[in-house]
Amino acid sequence: MTTIYNFSAGPAVLPKEVLQQAAAEMLDWHGSGMSVMEMSHRGPEFMSIMAAAQSDLRELLAVPANYKILFLQGGGLAENAIVPMNLMGRKPQPATADFIHTGSWTAKSIKEARKYGNVNIAASAEASGFNVVPVRASWNLSKDAAYVHICSNETIDGVEYHFTPEVGDDTGEAPIVADMSSQILSRVIDVSKYGVIFGGAQKNIGPAGLTIVIVRDDLLGHALPCCPSAFDWKIVADNDSMYNTPPTYAIYIAGLVFQWLKRQGGVAAIEQKNIAKAKLLYDFLDASDFYLNRIEKDCRSRMNVPFFLRDETHNAAFLAAAKERGLLQIKGHKSVGGMRASIYNAMPIEGVQALVNFMQEFASSHA
Ligand SMILES: *Cc1c(COP(=O)(O)O)cnc(C)c1O
Repeated sequence: MTTIYNFSAGPAVLPKEVLQQAAAEMLDWHGSGMSVMEMSHRGPEFMSIMAAAQSDLRELLAVPANYKILFLQGGGLAENAIVPMNLMGRKPQPATADFIHTGSWTAKSIKEARKYGNVNIAASAEASGFNVVPVRASWNLSKDAAYVHICSNETIDGVEYHFTPEVGDDTGEAPIVADMSSQILSRVIDVSKYGVIFGGAQKNIGPAGLTIVIVRDDLLGHALPCCPSAFDWKIVADNDSMYNTPPTYAIYIAGLVFQWLKRQGGVAAIEQKNIAKAKLLYDFLDASDFYLNRIEKDCRSRMNVPFFLRDETHNAAFLAAAKERGLLQIKGHKSVGGMRASIYNAMPIEGVQALVNFMQEFASSHA
């Protein structure tokens, strides 16, 4: 049987061990006689699942004690509204938020934030076709912003921050808000450098439906009156993410992924594997005259690798042959075109090697 490797950008591949454990526990979780999907979110069984998931995530990311971890619904896109609704109120109205525009996801964030305040595009990579992260020295931040929004990994464009932005000097206390939907848990980060970290779970954590928000305590309690209570971080935090029914099954699977990640040696260990996987693929692309990647070398994403066939008339044949080999979901996003291989934590290096082997063979037979 062909081994399947799934390169989906999201919802994305999960560790096989996790799916097997979930399957084994599907009908009867730990002798409770219930599936996790059938339990009250306020019962002792689910409360223990929730508590373990939160404390494992806190341990994995070394989240400091003055930050809350919230489990919400709505996805990364809803956060584009929820963030300004929670933070614009830190300043007199109308407040301004600074944005570092790096591609498709920040474009959406900017559009949404304009409904709740002013937007200052402090730096933009648009002129380069979004193939870089603007260097920190070029950021033209406002003096009194409510926050500074970045997307630390642009999932569609394949551009990633390989530095931790510091903003204190020119913005006073403006906190950095980072959309880490497709980067979270792939590398070691210093949470204390951020005010808010958010992300949908379906890239590197678990199933769609769970949204993670990590927020510093002093940023709670500033929600605009228009903010729905279920998305007011202070209310959610005060109710330990149980203000309304949280996405219980997604939290359970995320918890299994956190345990799996701890068995892999944690984030520092998986980061080393991610570096090796990305190097294997980028080195191959750079040495090839059949394929290319257009992103500046020091801004390339370790998680999402967009690439093109130089002769795009081969695209359909490439995708069909890849599928035949068990290499799934490598078609690029429609806004960028070409191909994209997403190589999140759950993708083993064997999968990347299988992709490279296939690409090499395809190139030799179509050159
Ligand atoms: C996938 C993604 C989102 C959108 O998440 P949804 O859950 O679909 O709302 C937002 N930001 C980034 C960087 C993403 O990769």
